[in-house]
Amino acid sequence: MSSEIDIAAAVRTLASVLPEKALPAALHEPEFTGAEKKMVADCLDSGWVSYAGPQVKAFEAELAHVCGRKHCIATVSGTSALHAALMVAGVERDDEVIIPALTFVATANAVAYCGAVPYLVDSSSDTLGIDPDKLAVVLKGIAQKNGRHVRNRKTGRRIAAVVPVHVFGHPTEDVRLAQIAAEYGIPLLVDATESLGSLRDDKPAASFGDLAVLSFNGNKIVTTGGGGSIVTDNDTIAERLRHITTTAKKPHKWAFIHDELGYNYRIPNLNAALGLAQLARLDDFVARKRKLAVAYHHACQALPGVTFVDEPANTQSNYWLNAIALHRGDKRDALLEALDTAGLKARPLWELMHRLPMFADAPRASLSVAEDLQTRIVCLPSSPKLATP
Ligand SMILES: *Cc1c(COP(=O)(O)O)cnc(C)c1O
Repeated sequence: MSSEIDIAAAVRTLASVLPEKALPAALHEPEFTGAEKKMVADCLDSGWVSYAGPQVKAFEAELAHVCGRKHCIATVSGTSALHAALMVAGVERDDEVIIPALTFVATANAVAYCGAVPYLVDSSSDTLGIDPDKLAVVLKGIAQKNGRHVRNRKTGRRIAAVVPVHVFGHPTEDVRLAQIAAEYGIPLLVDATESLGSLRDDKPAASFGDLAVLSFNGNKIVTTGGGGSIVTDNDTIAERLRHITTTAKKPHKWAFIHDELGYNYRIPNLNAALGLAQLARLDDFVARKRKLAVAYHHACQALPGVTFVDEPANTQSNYWLNAIALHRGDKRDALLEALDTAGLKARPLWELMHRLPMFADAPRASLSVAEDLQTRIVCLPSSPKLATP
């Protein structure tokens, strides 16, 4: 199983998957060859460039539809969407929020913006996200029900939410995760920032959880330049999200009355116009990225010491980032260096959250799988245009 990688052969084989003229190939590039220019220009001509504008409404309606949700509130970034979602889920100062150690820093940052503390849990090597069996064991070990609330018996803090992350677009087992969290009355808030267009059991990845969050940063599968969204089926939560992301301003013909601490988090119309043009191409982006994944998968079968990271069972991933797992981590940096020289802008996994200075003291479970994966996974260039027709 743990055979030795041949770096030169790996670079040659992985490069052979990509079209000849594609090198150097970035990790992920946006593509604006559809109606993007026209829709942004039309938006400029209309004079509606900030958050009040018809494109924001249209973008939110389309996104709610794509995610199979009743409501969508579009925001300035995925991070601000996470922050707002955590607030309306009831996360308060000195609470704990369960997140995977293996995630992009924004998940942990949003928890900290609430004055709360991330509680780090391990990942599954099948989904790269929170392992339901391990979550059940962790909660059994630390959770103590106390009336309506559940506390971490070791830290005394209330456990306010569980946030699974769909790493590289691969959906986690969110129905099971939600059931486990619900046993303790804890809401599930899904970080689906990487999984727009992915499905689990034929349902959109962002249709799971009490709330789900999306991102439209420039490197995501669909971009608005910068942007994000929260989707939910809950009317009350949706109304509250709209309110606090619009400076908590009470609707009135002229008066400026803000009835609580609010945020200027709504997406500008200009960005929503770009997003509408991009959303129209989501199916095409997903189809091409899945084709690229098949090509990488086949190429890896000829490579000793390398396994392609396939979509989890019962899912159809958008393969936002294609990735390989080396059987051993000791040659990872040599491979990254060789790929870089050959024009393949590959990247390692994120540094785990407890290894970043601001989260070094975060309470945590055993993180053995995440710690192992972190040394062995390499992300490959994954732009849709890299799929050969
Ligand atoms: C992209 C991303 C976010 C949010 O990103 P923004 O850049 O703020 O839009 C959050 N979590 C994960 C896992 C991400 O990949």
